Amino acid sequence: MSKQKWFQDLVTQLDTKNVKIDESLNLHTMTRMGGVADLFVTPETEDQTAFVVQYAYNNDIPLLLLGNGSNMVVRDGGVRGIVLRLENLNKVTINGNQVIAESGADIIDVSRAVAKESLTGLEFACGIPGSIGGAMAMNAGAYGGEVQDVIVQCTVLTPSGEKLILSKEKLELGYRKSIISKEGYYVLSAEFELHLGDPAEINAKIADLTFQRESKQPLEYPSAGSVFKRPPGHFAGKLIQDSGMQGKGFGGAEVSTKHAGFIVNKDNATATDYISTIEMVKEAVKENFGIELELEVKIVGENKK
Ligand SMILES: Cc1cc2nc3c(=O)[nH]c(=O)nc-3n(C[C@H](O)[C@H](O)[C@H](O)COP(=O)(O)OP(=O)(O)OC[C@H]3O[C@@H](n4cnc5c(N)ncnc54)[C@H](O)[C@@H]3O)c2cc1C
Repeated sequence: MSKQKWFQDLVTQLDTKNVKIDESLNLHTMTRMGGVADLFVTPETEDQTAFVVQYAYNNDIPLLLLGNGSNMVVRDGGVRGIVLRLENLNKVTINGNQVIAESGADIIDVSRAVAKESLTGLEFACGIPGSIGGAMAMNAGAYGGEVQDVIVQCTVLTPSGEKLILSKEKLELGYRKSIISKEGYYVLSAEFELHLGDPAEINAKIADLTFQRESKQPLEYPSAGSVFKRPPGHFAGKLIQDSGMQGKGFGGAEVSTKHAGFIVNKDNATATDYISTIEMVKEAVKENFGIELELEVKIVGENKK
Protein backbone atom coordinates (compact mmCIF):
# COMPACT_ATOMS: atom_id res chain seq x y z
CA MET A 1 0.00 0.00 0.00
CA SER A 2 1.33 3.47 -0.83
CA LYS A 3 1.32 6.50 1.46
CA GLN A 4 -1.20 8.11 -0.91
CA LYS A 5 -3.56 5.19 -0.19
CA TRP A 6 -2.99 5.58 3.59
CA PHE A 7 -3.82 9.26 3.18
CA GLN A 8 -7.06 8.49 1.31
CA ASP A 9 -8.11 5.93 3.93
CA LEU A 10 -7.37 8.23 6.89
CA VAL A 11 -9.17 11.26 5.48
CA THR A 12 -12.40 9.25 5.53
CA GLN A 13 -12.36 10.01 9.30
CA LEU A 14 -9.96 12.95 9.71
CA ASP A 15 -9.81 16.40 8.16
CA THR A 16 -7.25 16.68 5.32
CA LYS A 17 -5.41 19.39 7.29
CA ASN A 18 -4.64 16.76 9.94
CA VAL A 19 -2.98 14.28 7.56
CA LYS A 20 0.21 15.37 5.80
CA ILE A 21 2.41 13.45 3.40
CA ASP A 22 6.21 13.84 3.70
CA GLU A 23 6.13 16.29 6.58
CA SER A 24 9.60 17.44 7.72
CA LEU A 25 10.13 16.27 11.28
CA ASN A 26 12.73 18.97 11.91
CA LEU A 27 9.70 21.24 12.41
CA HIS A 28 8.51 19.02 15.25
CA THR A 29 11.66 18.07 17.18
CA MET A 30 13.46 20.32 19.65
CA THR A 31 16.84 19.46 18.14
CA ARG A 32 15.44 20.89 14.87
CA MET A 33 16.77 17.84 13.04
CA GLY A 34 15.29 14.87 11.24
CA GLY A 35 14.00 13.86 7.81
CA VAL A 36 10.39 13.47 6.69
CA ALA A 37 7.58 11.28 7.97
CA ASP A 38 5.73 9.36 5.26
CA LEU A 39 2.51 10.43 6.93
CA PHE A 40 2.19 12.94 9.79
CA VAL A 41 -1.18 12.70 11.51
CA THR A 42 -2.64 15.04 14.14
CA PRO A 43 -6.11 13.76 15.14
CA GLU A 44 -8.59 16.10 16.83
CA THR A 45 -10.35 13.55 19.04
CA GLU A 46 -9.77 10.31 20.95
CA ASP A 47 -12.00 8.45 18.49
CA GLN A 48 -9.93 9.66 15.56
CA THR A 49 -6.78 8.65 17.45
CA ALA A 50 -8.14 5.14 18.00
CA PHE A 51 -9.07 4.98 14.31
CA VAL A 52 -5.50 5.84 13.25
CA VAL A 53 -3.97 3.36 15.72
CA GLN A 54 -6.32 0.56 14.59
CA TYR A 55 -5.73 1.40 10.92
CA ALA A 56 -1.95 1.18 11.35
CA TYR A 57 -2.24 -2.05 13.34
CA ASN A 58 -4.60 -3.77 10.92
CA ASN A 59 -2.50 -2.80 7.90
CA ASP A 60 0.88 -3.51 9.48
CA ILE A 61 2.04 0.10 9.12
CA PRO A 62 4.72 1.24 11.60
CA LEU A 63 3.36 3.91 13.94
CA LEU A 64 5.51 6.28 15.99
CA LEU A 65 4.05 8.55 18.62
CA LEU A 66 5.84 11.88 18.73
CA GLY A 67 5.17 14.16 21.67
CA ASN A 68 6.89 17.55 21.72
CA GLY A 69 10.02 15.90 20.30
CA SER A 70 12.03 17.15 23.27
CA ASN A 71 13.72 13.83 23.97
CA MET A 72 13.82 12.45 20.47
CA VAL A 73 16.52 12.39 17.80
CA VAL A 74 15.07 11.64 14.36
CA ARG A 75 17.60 10.40 11.81
CA ASP A 76 18.11 12.33 8.56
CA GLY A 77 16.30 9.77 6.37
CA GLY A 78 13.11 10.33 8.38
CA VAL A 79 10.49 7.86 9.57
CA ARG A 80 8.70 5.28 7.46
CA GLY A 81 5.03 4.75 8.19
CA ILE A 82 2.84 7.02 10.28
CA VAL A 83 4.00 9.58 12.83
CA LEU A 84 1.16 10.41 15.19
CA ARG A 85 1.15 13.63 17.18
CA LEU A 86 -1.59 14.34 19.72
CA GLU A 87 -1.05 18.11 19.93
CA ASN A 88 -4.80 18.73 19.46
CA LEU A 89 -5.75 16.61 22.46
CA ASN A 90 -4.62 19.16 25.00
CA LYS A 91 -7.50 19.81 27.40
CA VAL A 92 -6.66 20.25 31.08
CA THR A 93 -9.37 19.88 33.74
CA ILE A 94 -8.76 20.86 37.34
CA ASN A 95 -11.28 19.60 39.86
CA GLY A 96 -10.33 20.31 43.46
CA ASN A 97 -6.95 18.62 43.84
CA GLN A 98 -7.54 16.24 40.93
CA VAL A 99 -6.09 17.19 37.54
CA ILE A 100 -6.83 15.43 34.27
CA ALA A 101 -4.60 16.42 31.37
CA GLU A 102 -4.84 15.16 27.82
CA SER A 103 -1.75 13.73 26.17
CA GLY A 104 -0.89 16.72 23.99
CA ALA A 105 -0.96 19.34 26.76
CA ASP A 106 2.47 20.76 27.62
CA ILE A 107 3.50 19.67 31.11
CA ILE A 108 4.94 23.18 31.62
CA ASP A 109 1.47 24.65 31.03
CA VAL A 110 -0.12 22.12 33.38
CA SER A 111 2.49 22.91 36.04
CA ARG A 112 1.71 26.63 35.75
CA ALA A 113 -2.07 26.16 35.61
CA VAL A 114 -2.14 24.14 38.83
CA ALA A 115 0.18 26.63 40.55
CA LYS A 116 -2.45 29.32 39.85
CA GLU A 117 -4.94 27.15 41.77
CA SER A 118 -2.45 26.91 44.69
CA LEU A 119 -1.91 23.22 44.03
CA THR A 120 1.51 21.84 44.88
CA GLY A 121 3.28 18.75 43.48
CA LEU A 122 4.02 19.65 39.87
CA GLU A 123 6.49 22.50 40.43
CA PHE A 124 9.34 20.18 39.37
CA ALA A 125 7.86 20.11 35.84
CA CYS A 126 7.80 23.88 35.35
CA GLY A 127 10.74 23.73 32.91
CA ILE A 128 10.37 20.30 31.28
CA PRO A 129 9.46 21.05 27.66
CA GLY A 130 7.59 17.78 27.02
CA SER A 131 3.95 16.86 26.51
CA ILE A 132 1.93 14.97 29.12
CA GLY A 133 2.17 11.83 26.95
CA GLY A 134 5.95 12.12 26.65
CA ALA A 135 6.31 12.88 30.36
CA MET A 136 4.30 9.75 31.19
CA ALA A 137 6.28 7.55 28.82
CA MET A 138 9.60 8.84 30.20
CA ASN A 139 8.49 9.28 33.84
CA ALA A 140 9.94 12.76 33.46
CA GLY A 141 11.46 14.37 36.49
CA ALA A 142 13.70 17.14 37.73
CA TYR A 143 15.10 18.59 40.94
CA GLY A 144 13.91 15.73 43.12
CA GLY A 145 10.38 15.39 41.67
CA GLU A 146 9.04 12.87 39.18
CA VAL A 147 5.76 12.14 37.44
CA GLN A 148 5.42 9.00 39.56
CA ASP A 149 5.10 11.14 42.72
CA VAL A 150 1.79 12.62 41.58
CA ILE A 151 0.23 10.26 39.04
CA VAL A 152 -2.99 8.41 39.89
CA GLN A 153 -3.78 6.72 36.60
CA CYS A 154 -3.29 6.98 32.91
CA THR A 155 -5.61 6.21 29.98
CA VAL A 156 -3.87 4.57 27.04
CA LEU A 157 -4.53 2.76 23.79
CA THR A 158 -2.81 -0.57 23.26
CA PRO A 159 -0.98 -1.10 19.93
CA SER A 160 -4.20 -2.68 18.56
CA GLY A 161 -6.27 0.32 19.65
CA GLU A 162 -7.95 -1.05 22.79
CA LYS A 163 -8.54 1.53 25.52
CA LEU A 164 -7.11 0.72 28.95
CA ILE A 165 -6.96 2.59 32.24
CA LEU A 166 -3.69 1.86 34.05
CA SER A 167 -3.35 2.59 37.75
CA LYS A 168 -0.06 3.96 39.06
CA GLU A 169 1.07 0.45 40.12
CA LYS A 170 0.43 -0.93 36.63
CA LEU A 171 2.46 1.85 34.99
CA GLU A 172 5.77 0.32 36.20
CA LEU A 173 7.35 3.75 36.52
CA GLY A 174 11.11 3.84 37.10
CA TYR A 175 14.04 6.10 36.27
CA ARG A 176 13.04 7.50 32.86
CA LYS A 177 11.01 4.43 32.03
CA SER A 178 7.46 3.08 32.14
CA ILE A 179 5.30 0.28 30.83
CA ILE A 180 4.15 2.75 28.18
CA SER A 181 7.40 2.65 26.27
CA LYS A 182 7.91 -1.05 27.09
CA GLU A 183 4.56 -2.17 25.66
CA GLY A 184 4.20 0.51 22.99
CA TYR A 185 1.06 1.99 24.55
CA TYR A 186 -0.25 5.38 23.40
CA VAL A 187 -1.14 7.80 26.19
CA LEU A 188 -4.49 9.57 25.79
CA SER A 189 -4.63 11.32 29.16
CA ALA A 190 -3.27 11.26 32.70
CA GLU A 191 -4.82 11.94 36.07
CA PHE A 192 -2.75 13.53 38.83
CA GLU A 193 -3.44 14.09 42.49
CA LEU A 194 -1.96 17.24 43.99
CA HIS A 195 -2.27 19.00 47.34
CA LEU A 196 -3.36 22.42 48.37
CA GLY A 197 -0.26 24.47 49.12
CA ASP A 198 0.90 27.94 49.97
CA PRO A 199 0.82 30.07 46.77
CA ALA A 200 3.89 32.09 47.82
CA GLU A 201 5.91 28.90 48.40
CA ILE A 202 4.75 27.36 45.11
CA ASN A 203 5.68 30.47 43.13
CA ALA A 204 9.02 30.80 44.92
CA LYS A 205 9.86 27.19 44.08
CA ILE A 206 8.95 27.70 40.41
CA ALA A 207 11.05 30.88 40.28
CA ASP A 208 14.01 29.10 41.90
CA LEU A 209 13.84 26.07 39.58
CA THR A 210 13.50 28.34 36.54
CA PHE A 211 16.55 30.32 37.65
CA GLN A 212 18.58 27.13 38.20
CA ARG A 213 17.59 25.78 34.78
CA GLU A 214 18.28 29.02 32.92
CA SER A 215 21.66 29.49 34.57
CA LYS A 216 22.85 25.88 34.06
CA GLN A 217 21.29 24.70 30.79
CA PRO A 218 22.11 25.85 27.22
CA LEU A 219 18.51 26.83 26.47
CA GLU A 220 19.67 29.25 23.76
CA TYR A 221 20.40 26.31 21.41
CA PRO A 222 18.16 23.51 20.14
CA SER A 223 18.77 20.23 21.99
CA ALA A 224 17.10 17.09 23.30
CA GLY A 225 17.92 17.85 26.94
CA SER A 226 20.13 15.40 28.84
CA VAL A 227 21.35 12.90 26.28
CA PHE A 228 22.36 10.20 28.75
CA LYS A 229 20.83 8.69 31.86
CA ARG A 230 22.56 9.21 35.17
CA PRO A 231 24.82 6.19 35.74
CA PRO A 232 24.46 4.82 39.31
CA GLY A 233 26.72 6.78 41.64
CA HIS A 234 27.75 9.34 38.99
CA PHE A 235 26.53 12.30 36.98
CA ALA A 236 26.76 11.86 33.20
CA GLY A 237 27.61 15.57 32.73
CA LYS A 238 30.55 15.41 35.15
CA LEU A 239 31.98 12.27 33.50
CA ILE A 240 31.70 13.95 30.08
CA GLN A 241 33.23 17.19 31.36
CA ASP A 242 36.11 15.30 33.02
CA SER A 243 36.69 13.47 29.73
CA GLY A 244 37.40 16.84 28.12
CA MET A 245 34.51 16.60 25.70
CA GLN A 246 32.95 20.06 26.14
CA GLY A 247 33.02 22.12 22.95
CA LYS A 248 33.78 19.02 20.85
CA GLY A 249 31.48 17.55 18.25
CA PHE A 250 30.83 16.78 14.60
CA GLY A 251 29.48 19.23 12.02
CA GLY A 252 27.04 21.60 13.67
CA ALA A 253 26.61 19.45 16.82
CA GLU A 254 28.59 20.19 19.95
CA VAL A 255 28.84 19.00 23.53
CA SER A 256 27.58 22.07 25.38
CA THR A 257 30.19 24.22 27.07
CA LYS A 258 27.51 25.26 29.59
CA HIS A 259 26.25 21.78 30.56
CA ALA A 260 28.21 18.74 29.37
CA GLY A 261 25.15 16.48 29.60
CA PHE A 262 23.58 18.35 26.67
CA ILE A 263 24.57 18.08 23.01
CA VAL A 264 23.38 21.18 21.21
CA ASN A 265 22.54 21.88 17.60
CA LYS A 266 24.84 24.86 17.35
CA ASP A 267 24.89 25.38 13.62
CA ASN A 268 22.52 23.47 11.34
CA ALA A 269 23.58 20.08 12.66
CA THR A 270 22.30 16.96 10.96
CA ALA A 271 21.14 13.98 12.99
CA THR A 272 24.25 12.19 11.69
CA ASP A 273 26.41 14.94 13.30
CA TYR A 274 24.44 14.62 16.53
CA ILE A 275 24.64 10.82 16.69
CA SER A 276 28.37 10.82 15.82
CA THR A 277 28.87 13.25 18.72
CA ILE A 278 26.93 10.90 21.03
CA GLU A 279 29.17 8.00 19.97
CA MET A 280 32.31 10.09 20.52
CA VAL A 281 31.18 11.01 24.05
CA LYS A 282 30.29 7.41 24.92
CA GLU A 283 33.71 6.19 23.77
CA ALA A 284 35.56 8.90 25.72
CA VAL A 285 33.68 8.15 28.97
CA LYS A 286 34.16 4.41 28.52
CA GLU A 287 37.88 4.91 27.90
CA ASN A 288 38.41 7.32 30.81
CA PHE A 289 36.14 5.81 33.45
CA GLY A 290 35.13 2.35 32.20
CA ILE A 291 31.47 3.45 32.39
CA GLU A 292 29.01 2.63 29.62
CA LEU A 293 26.66 5.62 29.29
CA GLU A 294 23.06 4.67 28.55
CA LEU A 295 20.96 6.86 26.29
CA GLU A 296 18.06 8.83 27.74
CA VAL A 297 17.09 10.25 24.32
CA LYS A 298 15.27 8.04 21.86
CA ILE A 299 16.88 7.73 18.43
CA VAL A 300 14.38 6.86 15.71
CA GLY A 301 14.08 6.70 11.94
CA GLU A 302 16.38 5.83 9.06
CA ASN A 303 19.72 7.14 7.88
CA LYS A 304 19.66 9.23 4.71
CA LYS A 305 20.29 7.12 1.60
C1 LIG B 1 15.95 21.89 27.27
C2 LIG B 1 15.42 20.56 27.75
C3 LIG B 1 15.32 20.31 29.09
C4 LIG B 1 14.84 19.08 29.54
N1 LIG B 1 14.75 18.87 30.88
C5 LIG B 1 14.26 17.69 31.34
C6 LIG B 1 14.14 17.43 32.74
O1 LIG B 1 14.47 18.24 33.56
N2 LIG B 1 13.64 16.23 33.12
C7 LIG B 1 13.25 15.27 32.24
O2 LIG B 1 12.77 14.21 32.66
N3 LIG B 1 13.35 15.49 30.91
C8 LIG B 1 13.84 16.66 30.45
N4 LIG B 1 13.95 16.87 29.10
C9 LIG B 1 13.58 15.79 28.17
C10 LIG B 1 12.11 15.79 27.74
O3 LIG B 1 11.53 17.08 27.84
C11 LIG B 1 11.29 14.78 28.53
O4 LIG B 1 11.79 13.47 28.40
C12 LIG B 1 9.82 14.77 28.09
O5 LIG B 1 9.08 13.99 28.99
C13 LIG B 1 9.62 14.22 26.68
O6 LIG B 1 8.32 14.58 26.27
P1 LIG B 1 7.96 14.81 24.74
O7 LIG B 1 6.50 15.07 24.66
O8 LIG B 1 8.83 15.82 24.13
O9 LIG B 1 8.27 13.38 24.14
P2 LIG B 1 9.10 13.00 22.82
O10 LIG B 1 10.49 13.48 22.95
O11 LIG B 1 8.33 13.39 21.63
O12 LIG B 1 9.09 11.42 22.97
C14 LIG B 1 9.83 10.77 23.98
C15 LIG B 1 9.32 9.33 24.09
O13 LIG B 1 7.99 9.35 24.60
C16 LIG B 1 7.10 8.69 23.69
N5 LIG B 1 5.82 9.40 23.70
C17 LIG B 1 5.59 10.71 23.48
N6 LIG B 1 4.27 10.98 23.59
C18 LIG B 1 3.67 9.79 23.88
C19 LIG B 1 2.32 9.39 24.09
N7 LIG B 1 1.29 10.24 24.03
N8 LIG B 1 2.07 8.08 24.34
C20 LIG B 1 3.09 7.17 24.40
N9 LIG B 1 4.37 7.47 24.20
C21 LIG B 1 4.66 8.78 23.94
C22 LIG B 1 7.79 8.78 22.34
O14 LIG B 1 7.33 7.77 21.45
C23 LIG B 1 9.24 8.62 22.74
O15 LIG B 1 9.55 7.26 22.94
C24 LIG B 1 14.44 18.09 28.62
C25 LIG B 1 14.52 18.36 27.25
C26 LIG B 1 15.00 19.58 26.80
C27 LIG B 1 15.06 19.85 25.32
